[in-house]
Amino acid sequence: MSKLYKNIIIELSGICNGKCTWCTTGMANRKGLKPSGGYMCASKFIELMQYLQSNKIIDDNSNLYLYNWGEPLLNPEVKEIIKHLNKSGIHFILSTNASKPVLFDGSNDLKTLKELRFSMPGFSQESYNRIHGFDFNTIKNNISSILENYRNCGFQGDASIYYHVYQFNVRELEKAYEFSARERINIYPYYAYLNDYKTFKEYLASTMQYDQLKKASQELFLFYIDQELKDMPDEYTCNQMDEFLVIDENCELLTCCVIDKENEYYSLGSIFNYSLSEVENLKRSQPICEECKKYGVIYLIQSILSEKLNHFENGYTRYLKENDFCCQSINSVQSRFDREVQRRIEADIIRLRNEIQYLMERSREKQINYLIWGAGNGGELAKYFITSVLPNFNLVGYIDKFKLGELNRIPIFKPQVLGELNFDYIIIATTPGKSEANQKLVDLGLRRVKDFIEIIF
Ligand code: SF4
Ligand code: SF4
Repeated sequence: MSKLYKNIIIELSGICNGKCTWCTTGMANRKGLKPSGGYMCASKFIELMQYLQSNKIIDDNSNLYLYNWGEPLLNPEVKEIIKHLNKSGIHFILSTNASKPVLFDGSNDLKTLKELRFSMPGFSQESYNRIHGFDFNTIKNNISSILENYRNCGFQGDASIYYHVYQFNVRELEKAYEFSARERINIYPYYAYLNDYKTFKEYLASTMQYDQLKKASQELFLFYIDQELKDMPDEYTCNQMDEFLVIDENCELLTCCVIDKENEYYSLGSIFNYSLSEVENLKRSQPICEECKKYGVIYLIQSILSEKLNHFENGYTRYLKENDFCCQSINSVQSRFDREVQRRIEADIIRLRNEIQYLMERSREKQINYLIWGAGNGGELAKYFITSVLPNFNLVGYIDKFKLGELNRIPIFKPQVLGELNFDYIIIATTPGKSEANQKLVDLGLRRVKDFIEIIF
């Protein structure tokens, strides 16, 4: 019986501006070749989605990926396409090299963006010179501004760095973990691989030219390949056939996301010509599949992208594990909050690790009476956080410009009476009032860290 496709990949842009050495698109860019692809326009995209839905090829539960061999944010109509998805309530996943940020205006424009991925070839200008060819600082700034803008425009899904591990960038991972923690996003390091069917096949068939082989041996991790191939089950089945539907920017149905434009089995014809069962039959009967399985291309790719060959711990939790203090603090506040709040708390623990360590030291022998500036949600979170990580801190009051009375039986004071209160320390926990609070405390002769810090989740 025919089944809907679980994953659908639609290429919004058959063009990329990256120069990645081992990717089909990047290889062509390096040679200065004219891009062989183009862009999908918004009206074609809408027509395609309607066709796939009305022919029951996909449904609301299918994962929709808007990229394959190109950079989706280069598409001049990408905003219109995303606005359509959002209006129709269709969830989708984006991946970008962050070279050309596309920003949004409406507070709900990115409500249906389920996942945002940043692909990075390392964490230094040297690594970017070797692979993508972009200015590294610009990319970091772009990632920060994309995240800020997308979160302001309704994005609530997962954001992650997909870190391509090369021999020359392993030592940069630490900095990437720190960056991801600061930006409150996850990080998935995995081995960069020969992302070009012909090149991968040549490597596996031992027909690769010496110069290319030498370069691959100096840049990529390839030590696992022989063992992996030995472990490949005889009856191995490729999940691209039945689980992935891949369509390019011209609405051509593709064999899969592994076979690129240079290959004669790349396209199976216009998707508009086929019903679901015809798509299935076509995808299951491509002669190239025998060769691909014989050499183990798809088996290796799937192993690299799965946990099996993931020799790096995912997420910035690895960074934390190496820092006992942060880890203990995080454990002490874990599981009370939802994932997003938890991430923000973790990021702040890392950001403020020196300050918190100083306060721990200072409160070891003596109770510290403190005030929280901000009697709202931020103040409550800060209170919980301080109680968890600084047990010798005693909350004596809140400061709030707009509220008076009590919060959980703790008195609330106006900022004007601050000079008359008895306290040892202040935690600023208000986002809208933080500049004013900082200024007021400095005006009173108080000093950051010694007398106050901001803890804004
Ligand atoms: S790996 Fe990604 S960023 Fe690099 S050239 Fe290929 S599509 Fe572009
Ligand atoms: S076996 Fe290879 S060529 Fe065939 S669908 Fe799978 S990945 Fe593509």
